[in-house]
Amino acid sequence: MPIFTIAIVGAGPAGYFAAQALQNSQNEERTFAIDMIERLPTPWGLVRSGVAPDHPKIKTVSKVFEKIAADSNFRLFANVEIGGDLSIAHLQEKYDAVIVATGSALGKTLGIPGENLAGSMSAADFVPWYNAHPDYADINPPLDCETAVVIGAGNVAMDVARMLALEPSELDTTDTADHAIAALKKSAIRNVYISARRGPEYAAFTSPELRELPKLEHTNVVIKKDDIDAAIARAGDAPEKDVKSNLDAMLVIAESEKSMHERTMHFLFQHTPKEILGSDHVEGIVYSTPDGDVTIKCGLVVTAIGYQAVSIEGVPYENGKVINIDGRVKENLYVVGWAKRGPSGVIGTNKSDAAAVVELILSDLQSPKSAGDISQLLTNQNVVDQSTWQKINEAEIAAGESLGKPRKKAITRAELLHLGGL
Ligand SMILES: Cc1cc2nc3c(=O)[nH]c(=O)nc-3n(C[C@H](O)[C@H](O)[C@H](O)COP(=O)(O)OP(=O)(O)OC[C@H]3O[C@@H](n4cnc5c(N)ncnc54)[C@H](O)[C@@H]3O)c2cc1C
Repeated sequence: MPIFTIAIVGAGPAGYFAAQALQNSQNEERTFAIDMIERLPTPWGLVRSGVAPDHPKIKTVSKVFEKIAADSNFRLFANVEIGGDLSIAHLQEKYDAVIVATGSALGKTLGIPGENLAGSMSAADFVPWYNAHPDYADINPPLDCETAVVIGAGNVAMDVARMLALEPSELDTTDTADHAIAALKKSAIRNVYISARRGPEYAAFTSPELRELPKLEHTNVVIKKDDIDAAIARAGDAPEKDVKSNLDAMLVIAESEKSMHERTMHFLFQHTPKEILGSDHVEGIVYSTPDGDVTIKCGLVVTAIGYQAVSIEGVPYENGKVINIDGRVKENLYVVGWAKRGPSGVIGTNKSDAAAVVELILSDLQSPKSAGDISQLLTNQNVVDQSTWQKINEAEIAAGESLGKPRKKAITRAELLHLGGL
């Protein structure tokens, strides 16, 4: 029976769902040997380094990933970077098909004066800092100010604002990086502004996340009722379902009585960032608004306005995404997930997307090329295979147990490799 070899670059949701679709399409005529290659010593992509630590249920999708990885025709090669340790061309030569599933890890920028000041950073750096991504452990966001501003009207902006505004002891039972919990406990931030360029009816937040905000035990959440009333009027009699449910959720917040908590999260709408103020670090931000310019004094600005893919040599890019037609890139190269579509949708969106690309791959495959695999090329490398990853995973879970955490994450590559016995 023909065995086709498939390399998947990137162990995030899109990569796993592509592997799953391949596994599900095996029959008497074809099977697949799948090698998944990941630059970090840990798999799961943004499920580990993006999803907010106070949303542990979302991370249970990792159980699905581990089931996919348990298949005897699946191998993990983590701690191997494509573009660094090995090239895309190497993979294209060896494998019948190569699927790029590398996500988008670079934060988009505003292009306004002051954006490069110390204390102005992207959510693409801030989020992996609190989630224990080894490359972001040292970013040290300034938390010694009274006010922080988060720019963006999507769930990433809301995650960042919530992490800054919640009572940090609420993180003790989560898998937040130890360094972040320690820093947030010392944080002087008591006011967090989350600002959107347009009105509430255009916000990309999703309603379950909005409905969760009033449940924060130690944080006041403030939305101006006038903003929501005006948005409801503008949205008219028959707003789209998502818009209506967002506006309903925001109205509940706007109408709720304000508590006396010392921490407050404020929503600002129709605030377009114009300039970040400061001489050598952030001291404030100027917005243009329908009522004229408004300045907010602050010491931290986090921008959460989207992501772009990091380029890998041999892969064509345009507008922060891999150039593709329905997932086909060139020759035997394909793309799935955020690298293909850009940063949109929920984790599940990557499943249908990957399944559709796998359909195309199936229609393109002819006969196996039997050109070997990458294991011969990685002799000098500390490769984290599935059994090494399982050791890391189990060690982290065990370390968290007595602390009441789902896991205590190791931070540096060296620590992770050590847990894996390398
Ligand atoms: C802050 C944040 C919070 C989110 N919260 C939620 C949520 O609560 N619920 C939800 O449904 N969705 C959430 N999402 C969206 C979800 O995480 C994405 O839809 C999903 O992770 C995209 O999957 P992906 O596989 O394309 O990319 P990723 O998850 O980014 O995975 C890409 C993988 O490729 C690896 N890689 C990159 N370059 C290379 C290379 N050169 N060589 C080898 N490996 C490489 C990366 O290390 C990474 O592991 C969130 C996203 C963010 C940013």
